[in-house]
Amino acid sequence: MSVQVAAPAVELKELSGPMDKAAGPPCEPVTAHTPGHAVAAAQCSLPATERETAPAAASSSSSSSSCGSGGGERPPLSGCPGLSATGLPLGAAKVPQASAMKRSDPHHPQHRHRDGGDNGGGCTAEALVSPDGTVTEAPRTVKKIQFADQKQEFNKRPTKIGRRSLSRSISQSSTDSYSSAASYTDSSDDETSPRDKQQKNSKGSSDFCVKNIKQAEFGRREIEIAEQEMPALMALRKRAQGEKPLAGAKIVGCTHITAQTAVLMETLGALGAQCRWAACNIYSTLNEVAAALAESGFPVFAWKGESEDDFWWCIDRCVNVEGWQPNMILDDGGDLTHWIYKKYPNMFKKIKGIVEESVTGVHRLYQLSKAGKLCVPAMNVNDSVTKQKFDNLYCCRESILDGLKRTTDMMFGGKQVVVCGYGEVGKGCCAALKAMGSIVYVTEIDPICALQACMDGFRLVKLNEVIRQVDIVITCTGNKNVVTREHLDRMKNSCIVCNMGHSNTEIDVASLRTPELTWERVRSQVDHVIWPDGKRIVLLAEGRLLNLSCSTVPTFVLSITATTQALALIELYNAPEGRYKQDVYLLPKKMDEYVASLHLPTFDAHLTELTDEQAKYLGLNKNGPFKPNYYSSCQPDVAHGRVVPPSDANSDDSFIFNL
Ligand code: NAD
Repeated sequence: MSVQVAAPAVELKELSGPMDKAAGPPCEPVTAHTPGHAVAAAQCSLPATERETAPAAASSSSSSSSCGSGGGERPPLSGCPGLSATGLPLGAAKVPQASAMKRSDPHHPQHRHRDGGDNGGGCTAEALVSPDGTVTEAPRTVKKIQFADQKQEFNKRPTKIGRRSLSRSISQSSTDSYSSAASYTDSSDDETSPRDKQQKNSKGSSDFCVKNIKQAEFGRREIEIAEQEMPALMALRKRAQGEKPLAGAKIVGCTHITAQTAVLMETLGALGAQCRWAACNIYSTLNEVAAALAESGFPVFAWKGESEDDFWWCIDRCVNVEGWQPNMILDDGGDLTHWIYKKYPNMFKKIKGIVEESVTGVHRLYQLSKAGKLCVPAMNVNDSVTKQKFDNLYCCRESILDGLKRTTDMMFGGKQVVVCGYGEVGKGCCAALKAMGSIVYVTEIDPICALQACMDGFRLVKLNEVIRQVDIVITCTGNKNVVTREHLDRMKNSCIVCNMGHSNTEIDVASLRTPELTWERVRSQVDHVIWPDGKRIVLLAEGRLLNLSCSTVPTFVLSITATTQALALIELYNAPEGRYKQDVYLLPKKMDEYVASLHLPTFDAHLTELTDEQAKYLGLNKNGPFKPNYYSSCQPDVAHGRVVPPSDANSDDSFIFNL
C-alpha cells in the first residue's frame, strides 16, 4: 500500500483576484480575526436566492461566553488528536437500551439531514388538548431565517430567554430538514445552556461545548452501532493504518452531528486529520454523540435546540481559534463556508478545498463560482452517482413504508396508492408499496419516466382519474402544486396525503388553511383536515418530506455518502497543484466507483473483472472508470448550465486507489 505524501499547502496568491473581477456589487473589506491583520480581501456574499428576511436584532457586546473553557476565555488549543478506531470489535456491542429506545420510539427522527424539509425551522404546531378532550392545534410560529449579517456578535451574558428571543440571521439549511433528534438520556430537565456550563472531559480538556459530557457513554454505544453499518469507513481506517493520507489536514466541519457523522469524524481522525466540528442544524444534534466525541478529544460545539445565536457562536468557536487554522472545509448547507467568507476571508489562503454535501450548499458554490468569487476548489458530493442513485432510490424505498407506518399504523396490502413522479424517489416508493401488495398508480409528465413506469407494471394515470378512489397520495416530483385544493376536495374520506419531495410546495397545504376546514393535530406530524360534511383527510408532516420528518433513514445509505465525503477530502487535500482550480467539481467517476466497491464486501458480492481482451474491446481501463463522467442524472450540469471541468483524477496515480 502506498500513499502519496500530502501536497504542500496551496498558496492562493491572488485571493482577491477573481472576486475583484466579478460582476456585481463591490465586495466590502473586513478585518480578519487575527489581531493585527487587517484584511482588505473582498467580502464575498453567498447568493441571496434562498434568503428569507428576519427582523434585525440588536446584539449587545461581542466576545464569546463561556463553555468548557469558562469565563468567555478561549480554551487552550488542543486541536484534535488523530483518533484511531474505537478498538471495539464489530458486532461486539451489547444490545444497548439506547438502541431499543431508538427503534421503538414512533416519533424518533432519522439521524440525518437532507435538503428541503423545513420542519425544523418552518411552521411548527403542537397539539393542545382542552379539558373536554378536543385536540386542537397550537398557534403556529413561522421562523424567518436568513444568512448571518456580517456584524454578527454574540450575546455576552445571555439568558436562555435572551438567546431565544434574539433574532439571528440563519440560513435555511440550518433550520430545515428533520424533526429534532431523539435523546436517549433524558436531559430535558437540564435547562442550563451549554454555553453557561463549565465542562471538562476525562482528559481535562474543555475545548468543546456540548449539552452534557456525562452522556458520552450512551453516545459511544450509538457510534458503535453505526460503525456496524458503515463498512467502507471502517475499511478505510484499516487500509490507512500506518499511512495517514490526511496527516496535517485541519478540517473544520459543519454537518448534522449524529452517530454516522461521528464514525466519519473518527475515520478522518484515524487518517491523520485534526477536526473541529459544529452542527449544521439547530435541532439535529444527538447530544449523547456530541458528548462521546468531546470525550474522545474532538472539539465539538453543538447541542440539540441551539438558538440561532448559539448556532453561529458554535461555528465561530470551530473557526476562530488561537494557533489553529483550518485547511479543509466539510460543509452541509454552506453556512460554515459562508461564515468564513464573511468573517475570516483571509483563511482561504490556507484552505485547500471545500467539500459540500447538500443541494443548497452546492447551489451556493456554483453561484460563487459563476460570479468568479470562489477562492478554492470545491467538491460537489451531492451529485455524485453514489449519492444520487442510492440516497434517492434505495433510501426512499426503505423509508417510505417506515414513515407511513409510524404515523398511521396502516396496512399496505390491497390499498390503492397514487405516486406522483417516477424519478428516483418515485421509483423507490412504488417498488416498496408494490412489494407490500398495494395497487400502485403513477403520474408523470416525462414520457420516458412514464414509459419506465409502464414497463415496471404500474398504471400511468392522470391524478384526476384516480383521486376519488385512492387511499394514499404521495408526491415525489420536486415540483410545486402537484396536489391542488381541487384534488384535496375530491379525495375520499381518510385519504392519506404526504410528500417525499424536496420542498413542502408539492401539496398545496396553504389552500387548506381556510375557515371552513378544521385542523386536528392527532399525533406528532399527523393532522386531520376536516371538511364541513365530516370528510377528513390525513395530512402527514404538513406536506414536508415524510421520511425525514417521521422515520429513520438507513445508516448504510449514509455510509455511502460519508465515504464519498471522506474520499473527496482526501482527494482535494492530496491533489497535485493544478489538478483542481477555483471551481466546483464532481467526484471523479473512478472514486465514485471506489466508494461502491468498498461497500460490496458487506454483501459478499463477487465483482467480475474484465479480461484484457474485453477491456480492449470496450476501450476501458481494467481498473475503471467503467462509465463516462456523464453517467449520472447530470443534474448539476444542467441545473447550473455548465460543464464539469475536466480532471485527471481518474488516473491510477491518485493515491486513493492505492489505499
Ligand atoms: P427526479 O427528477 O428523478 O424525479 C422527479 C420526477 O417527477 C421526474 O421524472 C419528473 O418528470 C416528474 N414530475 C415533475 N413534475 C411532475 C408533475 N407535475 N406530475 C407528475 N410528475 C412530475 O427526482 P428524484 O431524485 O426522484 O427526487 C424527487 C424529489 O425528491 C426532489 O425534490 C428531491 O430533492 C427529493 N428527494 C427526497 C429524498 C427523500 O429522502 N425524501 C431523497 C432524495 C431526493
